[in-house]
Amino acid sequence: MPDQAGELAVIDAAPKQLFINGKWTDASQGATFEVLDPSTGKVLCAVSDASPEDGMAALEAAAAAQAAFAATPPRERSDMLMRAFRLLHERIDTLALLMTLEMGKPLAESRGEIAYAAEFFRHFAEEAVRIDGGYQVAPAGGARFLVTKQPVGPSLLVTPWNFPMAMGTRKIGPAIAAGCTSIIKPAPQTPLSMLALAGILREAGVPDGAVNVVTTSNAGEVMEPLIRSGVARKLSFTGSTAVGRRLLEQCADKVLRTSLELGGNAAFIVFPDADLSAAVDGAIAAKMRNSGEACTSANRIYVHADVIDDFGAKLAEKMAALPVGRGVLDGVRVGPLIDAAAREKVARLVGDAVERGAKVLTGGEIPDQPGFFYPPTVLTGVPESARMRHEEIFGPVAPLTAFTTEDEAVAAANDTEYGLVNYVYTNDLSRALRVAEALESGMVGINQGVVSNPAAPFGGVKASGLGREGGPIGIEEFLETKYIGIGLA
Ligand code: NAP
Repeated sequence: MPDQAGELAVIDAAPKQLFINGKWTDASQGATFEVLDPSTGKVLCAVSDASPEDGMAALEAAAAAQAAFAATPPRERSDMLMRAFRLLHERIDTLALLMTLEMGKPLAESRGEIAYAAEFFRHFAEEAVRIDGGYQVAPAGGARFLVTKQPVGPSLLVTPWNFPMAMGTRKIGPAIAAGCTSIIKPAPQTPLSMLALAGILREAGVPDGAVNVVTTSNAGEVMEPLIRSGVARKLSFTGSTAVGRRLLEQCADKVLRTSLELGGNAAFIVFPDADLSAAVDGAIAAKMRNSGEACTSANRIYVHADVIDDFGAKLAEKMAALPVGRGVLDGVRVGPLIDAAAREKVARLVGDAVERGAKVLTGGEIPDQPGFFYPPTVLTGVPESARMRHEEIFGPVAPLTAFTTEDEAVAAANDTEYGLVNYVYTNDLSRALRVAEALESGMVGINQGVVSNPAAPFGGVKASGLGREGGPIGIEEFLETKYIGIGLA
């Protein structure tokens, strides 16, 4: 367990300036904003607060570097990513402490996220040298079709606070692999992990201007001119559906390529034939990863009426036993929520569900201690009218509702504007496949509570987004297909 001096040293050593054109730079007029430790509510440090002019300087650097970066041999771009992959592993302890201090998640989860984040670099290092093309005889003969792929161009990458590093590497990895330069705007709650990553990418040999990081407390004013500039050719955004919609409208003007990884409202369905203790463990994995602050979090848990009491009792017992506390402390499994507003929202949603008839099996009371903690909570009998059935809870609250038929469970799961991921627990293979095919989501977990994997295509349908990150398809989001028609004499 790090002591207070260790925490201070890590914060002290962390980069806090903008990273533009390969250099650490103060924001115009030396502006800064504060970063808090959500486990204490105290200020950790101040970070450069970019102005729209600083954002434009980053875009100019990315645009100036684009042609040379696109011409870099794929093997060289692959090697940059592999070096960054290794550096992330070499520095995992320091990076995990930094992430825990700014975001709150327990150290073990921060280490897990850094390993996951690094894996995107390894995956896309392997994809960089596999960008394909084609040569084809035209169906009528004579002409030939040559098909090649080229980088989209300077890309704007906007990330949320819940996975401060992995949501970045999931975009930066394929951008570098494809030969796109980028400007990354991390969330203001968690800028330190992304700035540390920028330093690692520089050490890994990424050329000046190819990756720029702009931290700001003024996202809209800094990003909109970049989106509308006509210089950036792509926006890849991870965050809420509300902001994603607004950015999609802004992208329409210059018809930018867009990838949107937005909110979720995952259903977790437990059939009566499921292995109940595996389903309980799966529900804890799907619910409690990142204290429920994940787009993939099980937001609605539908359990067959025959087993709901047993399932609820087992889940409540295990959830109640999860140690809550500062993420830097040994043994802690549940850290604080990101800020006071996030905790108030969770408390409001729980209050609303209880008013509408839900019963609290465990948790539900804000503890009297510093920091933004909320206890692991299980509710049962949550009615469809409850607000948490339709909104992301984004906290450690597991709401259970009984169902009786398969059709009823599928209809309830699909009754949402979101479509990111759903989970199904059953030992009946036919049912598993039938239900997986009927669920309106980009991803389905069958008898597993975590689907994220850098080698798999992650993404949603409906209001959960556009495009996929990870897997072989992930690099395509940063490539344009060019067809060259050749007339033969
Ligand atoms: P958010 O409020 O939408 O913010 C996401 C990012 O967008 C932040 O960096 C934010 O900066 C920035 N932003 C906000 N308004 C902007 C604007 N007008 N122009 C440019 N950038 C802008 O979301 P969040 O609260 O950070 O993250 C939680 C949400 O992300 C949840 O809905 C979650 O489901 C979703 N998420 C989705 C995935 C996925 O893969 N589908 C993964 C993780 C999280 P500011 O904070 O400064 O506004």
